[in-house]
Amino acid sequence: MDSEGRKSNLPKLLLAVGAFAVAGVIWYLKHEPGAQADFSRTERNLVCTSCGAEFSAKIKLGSEGEAQFCPKCKAAAGWPLKYCSACKYKFPPPLVGDPPRPAPMPNCPKCGSNKAVGAYIPEFFEAMNEPGQ
Ligand SMILES: [Zn+2]
Ligand SMILES: [Zn+2]
Repeated sequence: MDSEGRKSNLPKLLLAVGAFAVAGVIWYLKHEPGAQADFSRTERNLVCTSCGAEFSAKIKLGSEGEAQFCPKCKAAAGWPLKYCSACKYKFPPPLVGDPPRPAPMPNCPKCGSNKAVGAYIPEFFEAMNEPGQ
């Protein structure tokens, strides 16, 4: 079938190696630890919507839509705290739907906007508010 000689396979091989190297570089850049916090392994600050207790727990990425058990009242009512960086105000996420889930883009109760609202990750905000900046 393949009547081409061995020599003509060399450029293909080089191309394959080159593509592999490029893929490796892209992988390295994507996985380089640095400014980007690794949210998948960060302890999340949760609030119990049943008793109001705040606690932290490690949540697997993708499990944020599931209520976490509150260490205080044992209710499955712990949800990741939301934080408005414009008001520097943290608040429990409003629950919507059935079964109740935290609203993905809730409005800040103080300023009424969700533009600056995100997950409450103290280490992240501490890093942003470092003195001298
Ligand atoms: Zn509780
Ligand atoms: Zn706000």
